[in-house]
Amino acid sequence: MLLPALAALSLSAAPPSFSDPLVEAPARLTGTILTQGKALSRLSELTDLIGPRLSGSPGAAAAVQWAVQALRQDGLAAWTEPVTVPHWVRGLERASVVSPQGPQPRPLAVTALGSSGPTPAGDGQTAHLRGRGPAEAAKVGAAAALVRSLATASLRSPHTGNTSFPAGVAPIPAAAISVEDAELLHRLLQRGPVKVHLELECGPGTPAEVESANVLAEVKGREKPEEVVLLGAHLDSWDLSDGAVDDGAGVVMVMDALRALKALPLAPRRTVRVVLFMNEENGLRGGVAYAEAHRKDVHVAAFEADSGAGRVTGFKVASGDGGVALVARLTAPLRGLGQGQVAADGEGADISPLAYQQVPMLSPLEDTSHYFDWHHSAADTFDKVEPRELLLGAAGIAVLAWQLAESPEQLPRPEVPKEEPWWKKP
Ligand code: ZN
Ligand code: ZN
Repeated sequence: MLLPALAALSLSAAPPSFSDPLVEAPARLTGTILTQGKALSRLSELTDLIGPRLSGSPGAAAAVQWAVQALRQDGLAAWTEPVTVPHWVRGLERASVVSPQGPQPRPLAVTALGSSGPTPAGDGQTAHLRGRGPAEAAKVGAAAALVRSLATASLRSPHTGNTSFPAGVAPIPAAAISVEDAELLHRLLQRGPVKVHLELECGPGTPAEVESANVLAEVKGREKPEEVVLLGAHLDSWDLSDGAVDDGAGVVMVMDALRALKALPLAPRRTVRVVLFMNEENGLRGGVAYAEAHRKDVHVAAFEADSGAGRVTGFKVASGDGGVALVARLTAPLRGLGQGQVAADGEGADISPLAYQQVPMLSPLEDTSHYFDWHHSAADTFDKVEPRELLLGAAGIAVLAWQLAESPEQLPRPEVPKEEPWWKKP
């Protein structure tokens, strides 16, 4: 007989009451994420169907639309807030060793750094750095810059990243070469002078700035809705790959944490807000815009997931004295998941502007031993993400958010950073 069993099932499916919300909710959040989590399927949508999401690109615009729709599917009232972002485009990029001259051309694996200027237009054969470089260097310093890719492993793939030029300094061509090619140049330099031909067509797009957006959604607090625990990640990526570990993984983990909180269904004492920032990679405009627009909000904590999808072993916190001990108490339910470690120095680029409002900052303690193998290179694709770690990471973030939003205690506020905000420097 099937019917009695079904009846029993539907009875037991009624949500139990919260005997102790600081004990029961973590168990339920973990259960829903590990058994019904959407993080992995959403990561596939974001990386396989949308792909690269550099600020100002069609991919970034599509990701904003996708995120709003996905959050609404979870029953959340998602919205966007405007961010004006730089629009930089890559174009052709080519480099080769021209001296010492071998029996055939010797190409280098090269990729322009974000915000790089182009090499001078003109005859590609003659407008290269061999001819003009030294004279230009004599007048204005370097004519171009080649950097070794920031990478912990390499299959001759160059890794991009942003470079910035202060106001009044015209951008020069700047590119990363693969680790192997950097080693080659070092060996050649030991033999004597080396000349490299470099062509980059990158530079500002048309228009040079475009309107984009941060994506937000929240579960309103049941007692103190004006107090906010922020969960952040960045929606943009570099253009070379699908941005699976940087920062697709962070995006889908914080989204699934909020989905689980919404599904509990009892809301925590304070509001939990997800912010999917735009333009972390080449400008931080989303983080700066959010901090300005929400200056009057009472942020009790800001967390950012932007270190891939390796194993999460706990959390880092930057706060006033006593923050580490409080987070250790609050994350005690996560010890069973192997996430019980707590350390100082929580951080996150997008949430860093909130430090000037003395908001305590948190981030995952995470295994990043492979993160820089793929980071900012063409290899940052979905297959690099370990599904189990992604789900466990999302569960840990959900529990952390619940505890921070529910606990009667609050993290002590940190001091204002001594460094001037770099985005306000002249
Ligand atoms: Zn990132
Ligand atoms: Zn990055």
